[in-house]
Amino acid sequence: MTTLEEAPVLESYDMLIDGERTGASDGRRFPSVNPFDGKEWATAPEATEADVDRAVSAARRAFDSGGWPRTTPAQRARLLRRLGALIEERSDELARVQVLENGKLLREVGPQVAALAGHCYYFSGIAETILGHTVPVSIPDTVNFTVREPIGVVAAVTPWNSPLALLMWKLAPALAAGNTVVVKPSEVTPVSTLLLADLVVEAGFPPGTVNVVTGGGQVGAWLTAHPGVDKIAFTGSTAIGKLVAQSAAERLVRVSLELGGKSPNIVFADADLDNAVNGVIAGIFAAAGQTCLAGSRVLVEDSIYDDFVGRLVDRSRRIKLGNPLDPTTEMGTLACKAQYNKVLRYIDIGRAEGATVLCGGGRPDDPDLADGLFIEPTVFGDVRNDMQIAREEIFGPVASVIRFSTEEEAVTIANDTRFGLAAGVWTNDIRRAHRVVARLRAGTVWVNSYRRTSYAMPFGGYGESGLGRENGIESVHEYTEVKSVWIDTGGTVQDPFNPRATAQPAR
Ligand code: NAD
Repeated sequence: MTTLEEAPVLESYDMLIDGERTGASDGRRFPSVNPFDGKEWATAPEATEADVDRAVSAARRAFDSGGWPRTTPAQRARLLRRLGALIEERSDELARVQVLENGKLLREVGPQVAALAGHCYYFSGIAETILGHTVPVSIPDTVNFTVREPIGVVAAVTPWNSPLALLMWKLAPALAAGNTVVVKPSEVTPVSTLLLADLVVEAGFPPGTVNVVTGGGQVGAWLTAHPGVDKIAFTGSTAIGKLVAQSAAERLVRVSLELGGKSPNIVFADADLDNAVNGVIAGIFAAAGQTCLAGSRVLVEDSIYDDFVGRLVDRSRRIKLGNPLDPTTEMGTLACKAQYNKVLRYIDIGRAEGATVLCGGGRPDDPDLADGLFIEPTVFGDVRNDMQIAREEIFGPVASVIRFSTEEEAVTIANDTRFGLAAGVWTNDIRRAHRVVARLRAGTVWVNSYRRTSYAMPFGGYGESGLGRENGIESVHEYTEVKSVWIDTGGTVQDPFNPRATAQPAR
């Protein structure tokens, strides 16, 4: 990463610590590079360890002083609604900035960012309905109930592919439950998060409730290892997720991990093939394949293999690459040079392992795209599930097509992976749909659609795709501790050596 001492010609954004905008304490900054034209367009501070400490201390004070956790649910709900309204007002600006950072299409990011307002509204409702329950224990003269309490200071670390959405998946439930937060966005996409922080301040969240520090992996490591952090919410690669989990284990802090995937998208012969082609394209070429839930293994039934793959290749060849801000563009760039090189390396690996490039396979030769990190939509045929391109997450526009002949074989191949984030099933047979859904080892399964998410539906992975769930009421459980309360109502004197003296009557 280039480090700039100062960047007078670039737009300059600052971190948010304890309600104040601040640079890094040693003044260092790093650039954000637009992957479409290769130009540096903004800078953000490269936080020092002392800056991370300041941010965690601010969040700690905001939590320990009782200010934020003791606000009423209605007050928290009102602030979340205000934040939602501000996101609605400013979603165009937020979306454009995110496109400049990561090259994802405005036609996708625009609606995605606008929908984050709905996220805030949904969790504002939940803020007032975080319920415990009364428990009928079989011991006389006691009233028992549970309470869900905030955990404390949350470290939220996010990746570059959907920086705002993946942040909101953490921020909304964490705040609804009464936690305070320190956010560390990816070094590839710091600015969109820093802009969102403006809205948090404008909405009126008390100082220290939400803090943002920026910088590279080292900043993430300082934050997740900080003794003042009570809970880590991490989205990123499985490799870094394991490091974060190790750091969490050292201190036994709560951790949730949303990690990588190698999701199967299974097309049965009885499917509506036009629909399935669109679903497979959405699964692997939307966002240039840079989604954790990418349907990167396309499993196709033998009897329709040639027909289906022919249609898939034909549509993939016609995908329009271009400026991600242009509403007619269908695929933008890779987000950064490192990712671009990684994807090209995997295409070489696929060729070397004997898979056949059916379309794409490198850089487009259009001179208009020469400055951008573009890779053609690439379809590999004749892929075996033991090849590297079927086992490892590529995180780019590369589909690995695998043939199967029976439902049993499809399920076996689909589950033969260390990941388990998502899966797609294309069939018009309702019995088969239920049978296959029940057997797939994945956190989300779509039947006859792909890549849909909602704030109301829990999202997360089996296996090495992660721990815990985001979205839905399940996400609030990730940000609360459960307290069990026993109230004696009998007034009997307890036997100190047999506390259950009035124990359960025999069944
Ligand atoms: P990454 O793991 O390289 O980085 C993620 C974040 O962790 C960044 O903010 C980074 O600076 C930080 N980081 C790096 N080293 C760290 C360390 N040692 N300790 C703490 N933090 C550290 O991931 P990426 O390349 O930014 O994103 C792509 C990955 O994210 C893919 O694997 C993708 O599947 C995954 N992802 C998962 C989901 C999901 O919901 N499951 C969603 C989006 C992306």
